[in-house]
Parts: sequence; structure tokens; C-alpha cells
Amino acid sequence: MTKTCVICGKTFESYRPNAMTCSYECRKIMIKRNHAEKVKRLEYTFKKVCPTCGKEFMARTSAQLYCSDECRIKGALLKRNAPKPKKTMDRLKEIALEATKNGMTYGEYVARMMK
Ligand SMILES: [Zn+2]
Ligand SMILES: [Zn+2]
Repeated sequence: MTKTCVICGKTFESYRPNAMTCSYECRKIMIKRNHAEKVKRLEYTFKKVCPTCGKEFMARTSAQLYCSDECRIKGALLKRNAPKPKKTMDRLKEIALEATKNGMTYGEYVARMMK
């Protein structure tokens, strides 16, 4: 019977009713394509929650964090603009805080520290 190759579009004669390609070369390409599609489908198996929009989405890899490029860029910007945690509190404020904690004024506390 005459068939049409799904890869190159050429017509070919085949005795096999399920033949889809004209040659071994085309068959190889088809198998490769099918495999690639299978892998693509398998890749979307990580259920994640986008930290930018809070939407649930299927990630391609476990490393993917955001649902879309838009959210990824937004997320990176938010991260960059987030206030950096202060490593050291202002020393004066720290002393003042300690003083109030101990029921003293700043002056009293400092005077006591000097002793
Ligand atoms: Zn072909
Ligand atoms: Zn998102």
C-alpha cells in the first residue's frame, strides 16, 4: 500500500499497515522526536507555588522557582530591592535600648558602664 512518510512527506510503498516513515533514517528521526516529546511531558512534574504571584504551577525542573519569566524577573527585582537586614544595630540605639530595659536613662546606663 502507498503511505506518506510523517517525517519527509514522501510517499512510499509498505507492507506494514502501521508504517509511518519511508526509510530507516526517517524512522530514527521520528523515534527521536517522540522521545523528546515524552521527555518534555515528563519534565512538567514538579508542582510548585510561585513566590511572586502565589499561583500553583507545574515546573519543568525542581530548580524552577517561578511560574513564568515575568514572575522570575519580578521576583529577582523584589529580592534586590528588599531591605538588607542590618548586621549591627546602631551602637547608640543598642545602648539606649539596654538602658530602658534596665530601667535607666541613657546617661545613667553609660555612667554605670564607665565604672
Ligand atoms: Zn521519510
Ligand atoms: Zn508567578
